[in-house]
Amino acid sequence: MTEISVAVQTPLAKLANEFCEVLKLFFKVEGFAIGDAPMGFKPLVHQFSEENGQWSCSFTFEGHIMKKTLPIPAVEDERRELIHKRHIKRLCKVTLYELLKEMTGVHPPWGSLTGIRPTRLLYERLADGMTMAQAVLAVEHDFDVTPEKAELLREIVTVQQTLPSPNPREADLYVSVPFCRTRCAYCSFPGEAVGKGKLIPPYMQAVLWELGEARRLFTKAGLKLRAVYVGGGTPTALGENEFTRLMDAVMEQFPDACEYTVEAGRPDTITPGKLSVLRRLKVGRISINPQTMNDETLRRIGRDHTAQQTVDAFVLAREMGFEDINMDVIAGLPGEKVAHFAHTMEEIATLKPDSLTVHTLAIKRSSRLNLEHAPLPDAFDAAEMVRLGGETARALGFSPYYLYRQKYMAGQQNVGYARKGAACLYNIDMMEETSSVIAVGAGAISKRVFPDRELRIERAPNVTNVSVYIDRVEEMARRKEALFL
Ligand code: SF4
Repeated sequence: MTEISVAVQTPLAKLANEFCEVLKLFFKVEGFAIGDAPMGFKPLVHQFSEENGQWSCSFTFEGHIMKKTLPIPAVEDERRELIHKRHIKRLCKVTLYELLKEMTGVHPPWGSLTGIRPTRLLYERLADGMTMAQAVLAVEHDFDVTPEKAELLREIVTVQQTLPSPNPREADLYVSVPFCRTRCAYCSFPGEAVGKGKLIPPYMQAVLWELGEARRLFTKAGLKLRAVYVGGGTPTALGENEFTRLMDAVMEQFPDACEYTVEAGRPDTITPGKLSVLRRLKVGRISINPQTMNDETLRRIGRDHTAQQTVDAFVLAREMGFEDINMDVIAGLPGEKVAHFAHTMEEIATLKPDSLTVHTLAIKRSSRLNLEHAPLPDAFDAAEMVRLGGETARALGFSPYYLYRQKYMAGQQNVGYARKGAACLYNIDMMEETSSVIAVGAGAISKRVFPDRELRIERAPNVTNVSVYIDRVEEMARRKEALFL
């Protein structure tokens, strides 16, 4: 990708960041400014006007120009401003996209889409009364998405439609255990390495108290429990006693969820004792995450376990009767070539998990990898790894069931694949943002989804620092009450 620095001159400054996202589909944007172009920046000139019942938009860049118009939709109710804003944003982004596509000759696989939840577009069209086939064609046409990506969206939505749909009188429960044995180099989560474990006893006290408050909140708000997810961090990084106390408390107070998932993330934290607690409590779904099956990469990214430990943990869990095991892998890890990722896929195919999530490495600003500028695979290799991940999942008989895209990604997408009956409802709820969640623990974010067409969402985040959370846990519970009552 060509590197450029751009200064956008626009009468709609609020949309400048959106324009930057469109530029990133075609260029590596090294610098971005709004207004006059600093030295070395190329000006991108945007004009926008409204006359004779239509909006007119044009972009000029490096001597090329693209102009488009759109009749102003007639909306008379209170949604007018919101709908107009959306149409204007869309018109401008599409105009810029078409200009850059014409200039560069590049066709991005996701077309002009820069959002993280492309399945939403399919759902919107289905809600407007289109058939699935019509909705897929409309997304392909409206956003210049390739037929392959449009088909991926169709498969995902088709699987999601077989699962219990979100209900405004329900909510998920999320429990955060923000500790890990060591910190992965790419991690941007606000967790803590377990270290000497000094924070664990006060954390347990705080989170168990907040769990009780969450139980009361479900009752007071008249909410029915949907799915439970215990994540982190690595919940199994807790010692066996703490892990047992936490899981007993979760199951005692939230016994009637339709699905329970516990992240057993790092294989080196999995013990027969912790697995037997989960079996006793009938937790159906666990996640054992290799990320890669190459020891050298595991060392490089600070995982502090070996590929053999992943195999051992998986075999142990199977022997103990777990029939729904997810595995997460990451495409695009530092120092990995396609051959490394292919090796990981071969090992996964041999183990035969029940679901596989293929993430693409996202280097966020706060991660150590970003700070250390570790060598990363190029976009072409990362895309090939993503393709291999999908191929392996399909060879295992899995279908894609959720997808999200995000900024900073070396490739294009994160996709969850599962065998029939093993799709994780909680993952779908999180990715589609269609279900409320009451979340406890440091860094956990509660979310209330209002059941209108726009799926308005309000959030109540818990503080992320573990010590601060312990001190302010009562305030965290009150925040959630303010959100739901
Ligand atoms: S296991 Fe997950 S949460 Fe823990 S350090 Fe690694 S990436 Fe971060």
